[in-house]
Amino acid sequence: MKIAKVIAHPLAADYDQPSWTAHEYFDRAQLVLVEIRTDQGVTGVGEIAGGPQKLICDLLKTFSDVIKGMDPLDHDRVWRTLFSLTSPRPGGLGGWDGLPAPLPRNHRPQIMAAIGGIDIALWDIKGKVAGQPVFRLLGGTRTKVFTYAVGGFYVEGAPMTACADELAEYVTRGYRAVKLKTGALSLANEVARIRAVRAAIGPDVLFMLDMNAPYNVAGCIEFAKAVTPYDIFWLEEPLHWYLQPVDFTQLAAATSIPLAHGEREWHGTTVRDFIDSGAIRYVQFDATRHAGFTEALRIADHAKRKGVSIAPHTAAHIHGHLVSAFGDAAFGAESVGLPERHPIHHAIYQGGAEMKADGMLHLTEAPGFGFDVDWKWVGKLRA
Ligand SMILES: [Mg+2]
Repeated sequence: MKIAKVIAHPLAADYDQPSWTAHEYFDRAQLVLVEIRTDQGVTGVGEIAGGPQKLICDLLKTFSDVIKGMDPLDHDRVWRTLFSLTSPRPGGLGGWDGLPAPLPRNHRPQIMAAIGGIDIALWDIKGKVAGQPVFRLLGGTRTKVFTYAVGGFYVEGAPMTACADELAEYVTRGYRAVKLKTGALSLANEVARIRAVRAAIGPDVLFMLDMNAPYNVAGCIEFAKAVTPYDIFWLEEPLHWYLQPVDFTQLAAATSIPLAHGEREWHGTTVRDFIDSGAIRYVQFDATRHAGFTEALRIADHAKRKGVSIAPHTAAHIHGHLVSAFGDAAFGAESVGLPERHPIHHAIYQGGAEMKADGMLHLTEAPGFGFDVDWKWVGKLRA
């Protein structure tokens, strides 16, 4: 079997209600759907979160020419071939060895995103060829995996503690763990939001804080002390974007609340150093943002050996397979509290993993990642 073509589908959908995290404004969802066709009629689908979509689509076109004719089941070779384009190589100057010249360093996030989308589609093909869901290919047996709901995004004009009602609603839908966006307001106001959520969800629901990198080490130690009384399960992305494992180690030494990190990392080498530092207890690498399922597997394997729990960021319909495959070494997958909260996923995917009222993500026996694409909706949402 050979790879025939990679096709990029850039999609966008406006949110009903614009919102913020501590760092970013969201008024529309974006996703690049990656379709890989083979010479034997099997097609795989992957997806990429991030942008700019034009650059990612241009890279996918370049990569399509590079991997055309390769075996789609040889995911590691495809991954290493594409990744090799990010560094100089003997004879590679000017692309004179037949591969594209080393790619521009200022495109690296988008390059790693494009590699990720292709890689996920290859795993979908692998499952379809084997007639097995991806989690079973990896030795997973769990058809129900733990999942939690994220919410409490900032909405202009909304009451400050509206987040409490929202997260309590997710609990009534069956979730046994909820995560609040925090980090945008003053410490006193954030403590008020967190107190309101804990009061609304009761003492037995796991409660995580998703901070989106608002603090330096000293500021975050103060924050952690202030929120400790509310039985916080983890602090996610607590420190500014440029801070490194040594900074997380300082923070971890000063708080009893476990730290979670990884969604912003582009590849496994930086994640390795966060894991090896001993500072983080949960690793949140996102295969749909960067580097794909193959890199997520490498990271998960390393995390398992080091006793760090696997808790992938977003895209539960894909990452749920990783969570299943790693059994007790994985914590769970992240879901949006309401399916329509991700208007693209909600529109274009049918079947696949689904959160049910028992608070678990249910995987199916359908091959690959198990979802079908509604191509009519792909056409409607084309960016
Ligand atoms: Mg996060």
